[in-house]
Amino acid sequence: MNRLKLIACLAATGLALNPTALIAQEEAPDPRWTWDLGDLYESDSDWNAALQEALAGVEEIRGLKGTLSEGPQALLAAFETSNRWMLTGSRVFTYASLGADENLGDPRGQERRQQAQRMFSEYQQASAWLQPELMALGRETLERYMDELPALQTYRFNIEDALRYEPHTLGDEAESVIAAAGLMQASPFNVYGLLSNSEIPWQTLTLSTGEEALINSQGYSRHRTSRVREDRKAVFDAFWTTWGEYKGTAGQTLAAHLTSQLFTTRVRRYDDTLTRNLFQDNLPRSVYDALVDVTNENLPSLHRYLELKARVLGLDDMGYEDIYVSMVEAPQDYPIGDTIELVNKAVLPLGETYADTLADAAGKRWMHVHPNPGKRSGAYMSGFVYDEHPFILLNHLDDYNSVSTYAHEWGHALHQVLANQAQPQHLAGFSIFTTETAAIANELLTQTYMLSNASSDEERLYYLGYALEQIRSTFFRQTMFSEFEGEIYAAMERGEPLSGDRITQIYGEILRRYHGADEGVMRIDELYHNEWLFVPHFYFNFYVFQYATSIAGAAYFTEQILNGGQVERDNYLRFLQAGGSRHPYDLFLDAGLDMASPAPYEALIRRMDMLLDDFEATLNRVEEAKG
Ligand SMILES: [Zn+2]
Repeated sequence: MNRLKLIACLAATGLALNPTALIAQEEAPDPRWTWDLGDLYESDSDWNAALQEALAGVEEIRGLKGTLSEGPQALLAAFETSNRWMLTGSRVFTYASLGADENLGDPRGQERRQQAQRMFSEYQQASAWLQPELMALGRETLERYMDELPALQTYRFNIEDALRYEPHTLGDEAESVIAAAGLMQASPFNVYGLLSNSEIPWQTLTLSTGEEALINSQGYSRHRTSRVREDRKAVFDAFWTTWGEYKGTAGQTLAAHLTSQLFTTRVRRYDDTLTRNLFQDNLPRSVYDALVDVTNENLPSLHRYLELKARVLGLDDMGYEDIYVSMVEAPQDYPIGDTIELVNKAVLPLGETYADTLADAAGKRWMHVHPNPGKRSGAYMSGFVYDEHPFILLNHLDDYNSVSTYAHEWGHALHQVLANQAQPQHLAGFSIFTTETAAIANELLTQTYMLSNASSDEERLYYLGYALEQIRSTFFRQTMFSEFEGEIYAAMERGEPLSGDRITQIYGEILRRYHGADEGVMRIDELYHNEWLFVPHFYFNFYVFQYATSIAGAAYFTEQILNGGQVERDNYLRFLQAGGSRHPYDLFLDAGLDMASPAPYEALIRRMDMLLDDFEATLNRVEEAKG
């Protein structure tokens, strides 16, 4: 019931996978801008001692197997032992994992991480009896336990959540077959990873600057934003031509993954694979359907953005290869000190307590800020240790995207701090579905702050362009991916054969519809229908739709907070404090938002239309001033 939590946000903004994050800094990092793992253990030898303690604890949990039928005291003991173990286990894991990320090239750090991972998987095996034993006791007995021993009431949500799985749980023999099959289910993704990361021979291009560029994923991501149109066209053509040569293999690999997922769906008696993947968070299917429906109704707002981009770039035949070039250059740099100040002010609409908590925490050594040789790229928040503060890994590059990432990760961290203050250990851990909203809300508040403090129209255009691009990449693009996933799974479930060509055809139709290709909004060369080949998330089973629902939830809450008063603010803060005390859909409902209704998605579209109006008016002013 305690899930391992490391909120990685690489795909969250759609902008954050920045290869330049690996640029080395010459000097040793300033300790002021690095986290202090001494808050976890004072030394490696203390960590070693704690690891031994955690391993002994694993045996204690294993020893409780078969005891639950002895009575309510035995059940309480099992929960409390598990909680106690988790305090040590999560601390041991976090120290090793964060330490390893400081320098991926340090073998001792990697070894510690592996030791911690092994310890954790032993814990999972040793405690695997808990859920089946709860089911075997059954609802009636468990209700009696809770009546007889009121101290068990605090575990009601955890008990009921375990019982929810009963219709999808099989007998011991079948369960061991499913567990064994799980070992094979990772193979398609491993094959895909090998193909995309190391076995495809990528083309090298000579760019207009004379630079020789290898067009692999990193080269593609870097050079597709080139301001020279011929360069980005050549980059697109090279990358998608190369991928196209592996379409047959990659199609078979993805189809094999879908087949393996369909196996689990059927033996576990779910209606379909989408329903199965929503089950863990107990999300109704109607959330996904509302997202896809409202997005499709509002594609004209995306088309208006794309047409605006064509106007700014001066293109009368905008193509898909032009989509990543930014409309406006950044007005300034944002060193970490300025970033902290900006975001401290930007979150003031959340109230003084929230803002003070953030300002106080940002002054402590909770985060590892700058890129450094060997350091893990990207950004994440690690809030796994209940009785300790969260930690944040950044790769701050002094650009505005780094400001936004900073606001995002601290949104996760404050969510964890508030939930830990308000909830007991076994109800504090939240799901991605809720915490991405908390993180993106801080990004949107930061955008609002930057817009109201922009000192010139040019600066204003930059922040408006950034906000619009985030909506394209986090909302429309992720919904498009989700719809594509929905269609390929549906085809598989109908028994249709899926080849690389057929998958490309399905993807191409959706890609064209989203970008208005048939309405003349944008030209999309058929070669670019290969884009699905490059997206690893299609192996993550209906994961990406949560980025779209999260920015929509964030748009709704920030609109409420900025236009409302204390009631709206407190409502949102209670949502954060609720942590994981209920299922995510219910937590949103408690805060007045039905994620299966059009409300959040319409709030996001309202925000987009407002940004577009503002951009057009500002652009007109700038152009008039130039004469
Ligand atoms: Zn995130």
